Amino acid sequence: MTSSVKLPAYLSGGPKKLLIGAEWLEALSGETFPTLNPSTGETVGHLALGDARDIDRAVKAARAAFEGPWSRFKPSERQRVLLRLADLVEQQTQDLALIDTLEMGRPISDSVRVVAIVVRGLRYFAGAGLCIHGKTLLNSYPMEEQSYTLKEPVGVVGAIIPWNGPLFSAAWKIAPALATGCTVVLKPAEDGSLTPLRFAELCLEAGAPPGVVNVVTGFGAAGAALSEHPGVDKISFTGSCETGQKIIRASAGSVKKVTMELGGKSPNIVFADADLDAAVAGSANAVFSNCGQVCSAGTRLFVERGVYDEFIERVADVGRRLRVGISTDPATQLGPIVSQRQLERVTSYLRLGVEEGARVVSGGTRLTEGALAKGNFVAPTVFSNVQDTMRIAQEEIFGPVICALPFEGVDEVIARANDTRFGLAAGVWTRDITKAHRAIKRIRAGSVWVNQYQVMDPNVPFGGYKMSGYGREGGMEHLESYLNTKGVWIRTE
Ligand code: NAD
Repeated sequence: MTSSVKLPAYLSGGPKKLLIGAEWLEALSGETFPTLNPSTGETVGHLALGDARDIDRAVKAARAAFEGPWSRFKPSERQRVLLRLADLVEQQTQDLALIDTLEMGRPISDSVRVVAIVVRGLRYFAGAGLCIHGKTLLNSYPMEEQSYTLKEPVGVVGAIIPWNGPLFSAAWKIAPALATGCTVVLKPAEDGSLTPLRFAELCLEAGAPPGVVNVVTGFGAAGAALSEHPGVDKISFTGSCETGQKIIRASAGSVKKVTMELGGKSPNIVFADADLDAAVAGSANAVFSNCGQVCSAGTRLFVERGVYDEFIERVADVGRRLRVGISTDPATQLGPIVSQRQLERVTSYLRLGVEEGARVVSGGTRLTEGALAKGNFVAPTVFSNVQDTMRIAQEEIFGPVICALPFEGVDEVIARANDTRFGLAAGVWTRDITKAHRAIKRIRAGSVWVNQYQVMDPNVPFGGYKMSGYGREGGMEHLESYLNTKGVWIRTE
């Protein structure tokens, strides 16, 4: 419970303010809103309710920094900021993990692991920023005519992020900006703003000049104002497909560059020849990790007919044995759903699954016993008898819910795996390299994991096909999306 853990000093004091330029300011609305611990319903803190006027102030601060001191930073000086930032985040691992855990409910042991991933990402971008380069290009004019490309930062980046990994998402948007020389106005999610605010504070401490990183907390209206603001050059969005579509429309007025990391309904395919022990553990973790609140969760579990019944029972059993609990308890393996609103969404899909004719193999209910009474807990759930066309098999539930589907052959399962509007990720479990390659090539998704699920590295691009979005995060493509390419022509005598 919140009351039984030692709270980080950061959480004491009054409501958290907006970071605009070098200053921590109240929202012009003068209003605040609470952010709650989903394990207990207790208030963790209060956030400033930013609106379009605050977004405007933040964009102006970001523009001034972009054209001012930040533009004179050499790549190696930006690298130094990122390396210092990585050290600061690493030193504060326990506090940052605990704040994420208190606010959005990820089990504390997992939050500590995520901070380590963030540190690795910051150090990656610190190095990658030194590798940016243009090209000398051949042309068909006489020898004196030279052409080459220059890479330049796009300018002010509006970053809008979801709540399911607040620190990770904030770092994932801000680090490439620091590496390339862009500036940022970050609009974190209403249920996950505390670590993004703290991270921005650490950016200042690491030497980013005022205005390079600005944070405006608030609801969707603040994100909408950022998306249509003419002073913003690029929007980098992570969140739901529906919000992404609104942002694309809003950004059209000033023709912004846009990258979209959206939702998924990812297939996870298990062939009978796979290492089934590894596949059982991997398939359960592919959905139950972070309580299923992961965009790339392997929620459509396709299992080859011959091993289907036994396999599904084993996955369900992993779910039954998971220790569901208050997320600050180091023994907890499955924490709560982030908010009451999301809890209602997930439980409505649990009811819908039964109405559609699916069979509950395990879970299927909200958990309210004992210490779980005041939190948003849902039992890890496995549905069988699922048809491809059911809504539970097509729509993103964003909770610990697996839809299990049997299949007979490779061509059939690949066609069914692709039969969704999403295309974020996929898993394939087999010992047969030929089968694996056929699946890798034909599955329409931005990531394919073979004999594992959900592995990520800052050097490997991640992103969507189809309605899971466009643009890639991770790797040099991520940096490229924060850069413009200028073609240069020089005539010499
Ligand atoms: P959401 O789309 O409801 O909200 C995301 C952010 O957008 C929040 O900060 C929100 O305040 C803001 N927002 C809301 N309305 C807006 C508007 N009209 N204009 C601009 N901004 C607006 O998503 P969520 O519920 O916070 O997060 C869950 C979703 O995020 C899931 O669909 C999940 O799959 C997706 N997600 C995708 C990835 C990825 O990398 N592909 C990663 C994590 C989460």
